[in-house]
Amino acid sequence: MGSLWHPFSDMGAVETAGEFVLARGEGVRVWDTAGERYLDATAGLWFTNVGHGRSELAEAAAEQMRTLAAYSTFGDYATEPTLRLADRLEAIAPVPGSKVFFTSGGSDSIDTAAKMARRYWVEQGRPEKTVLVSRSKAYHGMHYAGTALAGIPGNREGYGELVPDGTAQVGWDSAEDLRSTIEQIGADRVAAFFCEPVIGAGGVYAPPEGYLTEVRKICTEHDILFVADEVVTGFGRIGGAWFASSRFGLEPDLVTTAKGLTSGYAPMGAVLVAPRVWETFFRPGAGVWFRHGYTYSGHATAAAVALANLDLIEREGLVQEAARLEQTLARVLAPLAGHERVTEVRSGVGAVAALQLETPAAAMQFAVRVRDFGVATRACGAGAIQVSPAFVMTDEEAQELADRFREALDAPV
Ligand code: PLP
Repeated sequence: MGSLWHPFSDMGAVETAGEFVLARGEGVRVWDTAGERYLDATAGLWFTNVGHGRSELAEAAAEQMRTLAAYSTFGDYATEPTLRLADRLEAIAPVPGSKVFFTSGGSDSIDTAAKMARRYWVEQGRPEKTVLVSRSKAYHGMHYAGTALAGIPGNREGYGELVPDGTAQVGWDSAEDLRSTIEQIGADRVAAFFCEPVIGAGGVYAPPEGYLTEVRKICTEHDILFVADEVVTGFGRIGGAWFASSRFGLEPDLVTTAKGLTSGYAPMGAVLVAPRVWETFFRPGAGVWFRHGYTYSGHATAAAVALANLDLIEREGLVQEAARLEQTLARVLAPLAGHERVTEVRSGVGAVAALQLETPAAAMQFAVRVRDFGVATRACGAGAIQVSPAFVMTDEEAQELADRFREALDAPV
């Protein structure tokens, strides 16, 4: 074993079993260092939405690196790709007139949204509105705020108190629970509700019918900021729209993004901020500073990659392709629901799906075993196998994926 400490891993087990080292990728396939080929069922961690090996993105990065790799965007500094990308995101944002705050990834976006929400209420003269609410099964990244909001219990445990003045959790599928929790805490103490439109890392759960409209309405009624965490669902993953918020007509106050913004070719995130919030911070003469940001906020090379990525998504109609995949994945995976080792197949909202196995241990074991059948995937939630391919996956490749899943399910454990 070398020196790498892998994130989210039992390193004792990795030391014994070894690492799975990937060498290259093309479209929906990746190859390991021994030359074995795999269907990439998950697009990395839900991010390689345009597929692997897109030279357009490599060229955009190289061109920008040769010109001006990066500079600060603190204060009044900016670079051209950063400005162009912000305008481009405003044009596709679920709320017209949004401003864009750049980050280095999804966890940064969540921390930014959490701090921005609290500062917003301070500027509104309501500093007692501090409580951040999230849902069971939620995954909002692993910085302090995101860890405190985690609805996957194991992700929150073992760190002590994470966010002073509070977080609260509601059942992932119950708008009524949100309403009663807010009323119990007191709406005058609640700052924001964080909501993944489709739960991702918690196991791929689509919202119950009407849920998103209802929770959005509850936040409006109680004067609580609605934060749509679109780190997974953004940039077409939801199918048929750039954002789940647009597909469901949500008009969030804040939208957290990352992953599909660059298709993972460079680390970058962004928070899309609706006028209601940004206007508080942009008052001429008020001298309000949001003392927050990252060295790589608006990184020029990452921005150039993001612009090339959005061009590619548009040129190839990939938002529509994700809508096709929603149908295809539902069709090819449905027969697996009858398999004795599968307790449920979840699909139907966007290019995401999951096979639920009986236990987390069974899913972990399957995620490794299925590599012998030519598929790279991972276990997520409590015992689910993640399916979130690149939008360029053809119907034939999706069928091949389902066939390989079946062969692996049939194989002796
Ligand atoms: N929010 C959601 C919904 C996510 O799925 C993730 C990552 O999977 C994050 C936030 C955190 O993003 P990152 O890992 O880029 O920090």
